[in-house]
Amino acid sequence: MSLSRRNFVKLAAGMSAISVLAKSGVTKAKRGEPSLPVIVCSRGEKWGRKVNRAGWKILQKGGNVMDAVEKAANIVELDPRDDSVGYGGLPNEEGVVQLDSSCMYGPTHNCGAVACLEGIKTPSSVARLVMERTDHMLIVGLGAQRFARAHGFLVQELLTEKARIEWLKWKENLSKDDDWFSPKDGVYRDRQGRKYGTINVLAVDRGGNLAGVTTTSGLSFKIPGRVGDSPIIGAGLYVDNEVGAAGATGRGEEVIRSCGSFYVVALMRAGKNPTQACLDACRRIVEINKRAGTRITFSDKFIAVNKKGEVGCAAILGTKKDPPMVSVMTSKGLKAIAGEYLYDREGKNRD
Ligand code: ASP
Repeated sequence: MSLSRRNFVKLAAGMSAISVLAKSGVTKAKRGEPSLPVIVCSRGEKWGRKVNRAGWKILQKGGNVMDAVEKAANIVELDPRDDSVGYGGLPNEEGVVQLDSSCMYGPTHNCGAVACLEGIKTPSSVARLVMERTDHMLIVGLGAQRFARAHGFLVQELLTEKARIEWLKWKENLSKDDDWFSPKDGVYRDRQGRKYGTINVLAVDRGGNLAGVTTTSGLSFKIPGRVGDSPIIGAGLYVDNEVGAAGATGRGEEVIRSCGSFYVVALMRAGKNPTQACLDACRRIVEINKRAGTRITFSDKFIAVNKKGEVGCAAILGTKKDPPMVSVMTSKGLKAIAGEYLYDREGKNRD
């Protein structure tokens, strides 16, 4: 579906520096009042419409904000066309899909998470059960799968043909010194072709209560057992009912060591608007890496929403044509918003 200017040109307050993607290109946003309820996800228009709509149906009727973010996240988890979340996600280096997810509910400040979960299509729903039905916050691996089975989840093959073929090609291309011949359309390459991809869904209900979910199959072809930031509370997700919520995507290792989503929410608590807070979290990651002498060849992206319903988004890397996106659904409809970024992908500092 194509984008129309009419659908995409209103912005929440605090987003004045952010441009909106429209059919004719990226245009400057106008100021607008934030409105509640609101649901946002870390994708552009295509997924944003489907994902946010599922949660919006619940929020619109005055339903529970946790139900809204869970049902929204389930849309992409269950869809095999997305190769970075749930069913159809790219597998680890052994060809096994291992999923990570977390959730957090503002009114109770409770959270739940699963990591390295195999065979369950909707890890965010399992994370929610960890939150609501146990005294724990994070259950991993076989324990998480047994826990899911105890709650009636079906264990299924999550590796689709498309993902299997992509994984096999990666494996066959990995080294010219092993016994796997490269596929005819592939040449030897080492770390190229690795993919990140995740979704964050955050929402604020009419009464200002917040909830969030982050869900992913993580870094493609990862070492079995690797856990990224998505199921780590404070890294891939954080919700504070007094302030707002944030979620991260991209290179999880950096988000873990910067406590990224917690940092974004802490900055909003200190008075920053969501966009400034997301940008500062990106700057923090860059500083940490500069001190360690690491070149920035990766990106991380944060999205955030505050209690008033103002939305922000920023990434380390982006381009004018391919900026970091967040999509926002309110009673005014869907807006796909292009966020800020620190460097263009060619490495030029925009700061
Ligand atoms: N942050 C996720 C991870 O590192 C991947 C992603 O967001 O793309 O597992």
